[in-house]
Amino acid sequence: MGEVKEEYSLFKDVSKVVDLAAVYLDIHPGLLSQIKECNSIYKFHFPLRNDDGTYEVLKGYRVQHSHHKLPVKGGIRYSSFVDEEEVKGLAALMTYKCALVNIPYGGAKGGVSIDPNKYNATQLERITRRYTSELIKKNFIGPAIDVPAPDYGTGAREMSWIVDTYEAFNPNAINAKGCVTGKPLSQHGIDGRTEATGMGVYIGIREAVSVKEDMDVLGLTTGLGGKKVIVQGLGNVGYYAAKYLQEAGATIIGVAEYNGGIFDEGGIDIEALKSFQVKNKGFKGYPKGNFVEESAEMLTYPCDILVPAALENVITEKNASQIQAKIIGEAANGPVTQEAAQILIEKNVLVIPDMYLNAGGVTVSYFEWLKNLSRVSFGKLEKRYDMKKYEALLESIENATGDTFTDEQKDLIVRGASERDLVNSGLEETMVTAYHHMNSVRKSKGIKTLRIAAFTVALERIAVSYLDLGIFP
Ligand code: GLU
Repeated sequence: MGEVKEEYSLFKDVSKVVDLAAVYLDIHPGLLSQIKECNSIYKFHFPLRNDDGTYEVLKGYRVQHSHHKLPVKGGIRYSSFVDEEEVKGLAALMTYKCALVNIPYGGAKGGVSIDPNKYNATQLERITRRYTSELIKKNFIGPAIDVPAPDYGTGAREMSWIVDTYEAFNPNAINAKGCVTGKPLSQHGIDGRTEATGMGVYIGIREAVSVKEDMDVLGLTTGLGGKKVIVQGLGNVGYYAAKYLQEAGATIIGVAEYNGGIFDEGGIDIEALKSFQVKNKGFKGYPKGNFVEESAEMLTYPCDILVPAALENVITEKNASQIQAKIIGEAANGPVTQEAAQILIEKNVLVIPDMYLNAGGVTVSYFEWLKNLSRVSFGKLEKRYDMKKYEALLESIENATGDTFTDEQKDLIVRGASERDLVNSGLEETMVTAYHHMNSVRKSKGIKTLRIAAFTVALERIAVSYLDLGIFP
């Protein structure tokens, strides 16, 4: 009998890397099994009534992977690929992601198995509100329990419907706004959340290319200047990642979308391409560069950095050997399968792992949640006080030296921090610290890949947390 090929499962893929990481740690096997399993899985069906009187029965999920820290946290995805294995895998990734960047949450993920492009806003609102009330019924949402956020196919609008529904059922809950993050600013969101994941991707890649020793191994110079980048997916994550990489001096030579890509060796103007995409629902007819019908092929085009920023399972054992990029920045969750990762090691490709690289979103979600619980925006209390203090300081320096500062110098020093300044500062600190910690663990333990190093760091933190709970010996 021929060998039966196991069907791809993101959850199993994640579990495999956890096992590879566990080799570098001394973890009780029972504890390891506990960490790997999903604590709670909620799968449900609910009806959607269409305007013409017909009904559809939709499938919804919320998986809480780890309760070692509460609340659990993770996005809600609307996509026709959503199934139990995917949601379990994505929830598990959230656990390790939060542990790696030291954000005090367990991991979760939710989803509805629909193609959101096939529904209008009214239908999506009905779906979202109904999905939320299903979560409320089973206590699968709440600021202290489980806090969803945007993911593939959802955004600030859906988060607004979620918080509104939650508040309607919990009118007296003073922390209700913290039941979901990624809300619009007017609905107690935080300045900078929309850009956060893409900005985190940029910061992570910037840190990776700043390490001379690592770039020497790849035959690359340090810094982003002149690096050729191909991005897959120009949604929220891919767009901001491409935009910040471009602003930092990288050349975006290719952008691939599910319905076609654009390739231009001379560099693509990301702002222009995005506006074209919004108007035309794709890149077909974009006046510059070449339109690539089979956009998946662009993953194997020559470039320095490849940034898959759409869905999981796009670099597999089928195309990994053809990859020509020196660095892959996993902006999406799970774009490189475990089998592909093995092939890429042989090819000396540096893979910056998803659980690190796209952690900017949950990091800023954490700041939003803190803001909601404290009910005050960041910087509100100290901004003016700081400004006055620095003004006085500059004045006394001027008096003592007889010199005067220019207006620009004064503006730079005196300007108090806004909410966005603080959010970006917290995001940068989180991403920079986590990268160098993960990379130093890779080197000190002689681990082959950043991905396994990332899991090692995360696993150790989760294990310590369980041990301190006194559940395991
Ligand atoms: N969906 C995002 C992720 O996969 C954000 C999750 C969150 O902010 O909770 O990391």
